[in-house]
Amino acid sequence: MIHALSFDIEDWFHIVDIPELENRDNWHEFDSIVEDKTALILDILDEYDTKATFFILGWIAQKYPKLSKRIADAGHEIGSHSFWHRRVYTMHPDDFRYDLALSKDLLEQQTGQKVKGFRAPSFSITPGTEWAFDIMGELGFLYDASLFPATRGHGGYPCTQETHIIPLTEANTYLFELPMSIQGFGPVKIPFSGGGYMRLLPSGVIQRYFNSFEDNKTPVVVYLHPRDFAPEQPRVKMPLDRKFKSYVGLNSTEQKLRKLLEDYSFDTCMNVIIEETRKQKEAEEIIESVKMVS
Ligand SMILES: [Zn+2]
Repeated sequence: MIHALSFDIEDWFHIVDIPELENRDNWHEFDSIVEDKTALILDILDEYDTKATFFILGWIAQKYPKLSKRIADAGHEIGSHSFWHRRVYTMHPDDFRYDLALSKDLLEQQTGQKVKGFRAPSFSITPGTEWAFDIMGELGFLYDASLFPATRGHGGYPCTQETHIIPLTEANTYLFELPMSIQGFGPVKIPFSGGGYMRLLPSGVIQRYFNSFEDNKTPVVVYLHPRDFAPEQPRVKMPLDRKFKSYVGLNSTEQKLRKLLEDYSFDTCMNVIIEETRKQKEAEEIIESVKMVS
């Protein structure tokens, strides 16, 4: 079983919905952790000889022009995490198109790699913003990895947990979807394989959830940020519950990622989608041949 490993490459001040961080004219004034922590991530992946997808924020690629090339040269997949880190459901389709095209063009110029995948900031594709899929298709994206298949504060979209196809408005066109991995926690569903939840949960629990995904033959999508590896990052004023989720377990991320790399196999999002599609096709063919025999 091959799971998807992904990193959203942004800085500590790209946490959404914090008024004092919202003004992007101020972003240049903050100290940055993104280059150091991305280097750490690259070193760890190199050590375990594992490839991943890096959804890079256009603003970061513009500010650190060598970073995306360095990631691509190490053999990883480059995806877009938008240009300005705005939530999709707050945007007009034209603004989304402009923002996404800007990030894609820049990343392709810098890396020479075709950008095929998109991850929305804060999993912010919600019911009513399906136009985003059509725009991704128009711009030449092959897949989306933004859907969070349960309700949550900043997003949530009811869909299956498996890799699937989203038909687009234009006839005979579609996009692949690689949804986030969520696990029931009573009535609450949590994305156990990344960000605050992965920092919060003990390794044993994460392992149990991974195993249940493997039992269902569904790949887990791991998503981490450079700031998940940065206990020294500046603390921002925010409500207590968000503060907890933003800063809990920052010392544990590296060790948890290493444990996952030791215990499971990972690849890029694109490769996991190809593998899942191949398996689904094979299953369909088997079902067809059984029907023909019986
Ligand atoms: Zn983000």
